[in-house]
Amino acid sequence: MVALVTGAAGFIGSHLCDMLLSKGYEVIGLDNFCTGNKDNIKHLINNNLFMLVKHDIIQPISFQVDQIYNLACPASPDYYLFNPVKTIKASVIGTINMLEIARRKNARILQASTSEVYGDPEIHPQNEGYLGRVNTIGPRSCYDEGKRVAESLMINYHKKYKVDVRIARIFNTYGPRMAINDGRVISNFICQALKDEPITIYGNGEQTRSFCYVSDLITGIVKIMEQKEIIRPINLGNPDEINIIELAHMVLRLTGSKSKMIFKPKPEDDPMRRKPDISFAKEKINWNPGVDLEEGLKRTIQYFENILPNKKE
Ligand code: NAD
Ligand code: UDP
Repeated sequence: MVALVTGAAGFIGSHLCDMLLSKGYEVIGLDNFCTGNKDNIKHLINNNLFMLVKHDIIQPISFQVDQIYNLACPASPDYYLFNPVKTIKASVIGTINMLEIARRKNARILQASTSEVYGDPEIHPQNEGYLGRVNTIGPRSCYDEGKRVAESLMINYHKKYKVDVRIARIFNTYGPRMAINDGRVISNFICQALKDEPITIYGNGEQTRSFCYVSDLITGIVKIMEQKEIIRPINLGNPDEINIIELAHMVLRLTGSKSKMIFKPKPEDDPMRRKPDISFAKEKINWNPGVDLEEGLKRTIQYFENILPNKKE
């Protein structure tokens, strides 16, 4: 089996390549390195089953493959807001290009969608039937609406051309290989704590998220791909909800840091509450995340301790 992984040099994509290679797949890892990092995949370069291709999915390309995991897209708010038009293009034109490979080569394709399709939700927890509350002209829309179009493209390629599609709605995921500077809350808090720098809380910190450790997520993604006939979107996330202040306290405790908390303005349209309903994933692919937040944070802290320049002694 040959799998194409777009976004292979990114945080999630690099772990996915590891998992597929360990299962005996041949893997083509594609990335334009706009937010990814060669260090995430350097251990794979001499693996005969792995091939790295530098390419932007906004440009058409073709491969003979059995499966496509389409993960290429800037994912952290800081990065996707840096170039919003490119972000939309990655989700829309990029997804069309990947669907065209799937259509021509008869490959199964999985789209990395997101809990952001629910926007700032009015129902809690969020299940797949909820249609979402996204501000089409807000700053986050380049990402949210791009991903919503990507889902629509998947469903319409299935209806029109019988392409075998999968849609994973991924909730906040964390772990080793997150980029130091990508601006997401877990990497920010850990790096700030390890340097005894102020922990930046946006807003009053009462907003919640539910964090899934990366190995759990990868297991879920691969299970969705391997399952027959599962066209509907499927939530993947850890339902263990925590507010941002509690998260900051936890990171401070686990790092033994002396950092103080400082408060900064809450970004526009930043969702207040987020927690996945994973009943469908449990029923359909028998998936349940197993790594709790404390254990996952310890592993992630260890990773950043090893790679962080200028950390405190
Ligand atoms: P990441 O930024 O670490 O990885 C994205 C990768 O895609 C990077 O290596 C980047 O260089 C590459 N890329 C971006 N645009 C590209 C393009 N046009 N052509 C080729 N490569 C391109 O982010 P991540 O956290 O690993 O996210 C991976 C996927 O999962 C994304 O699609 C993201 O939307 C989705 N997702 C992630 C989370 C999360 O919490 N990490 C949550 C929901 C959805
Ligand atoms: N956040 C924060 N401090 C930071 C980075 C993020 O308080 O240094 C908050 C952010 O406002 C949001 C939550 O943490 O409410 C999760 O942010 P992240 O960017 O990790 O993910 P997303 O907003 O995409 O869920």
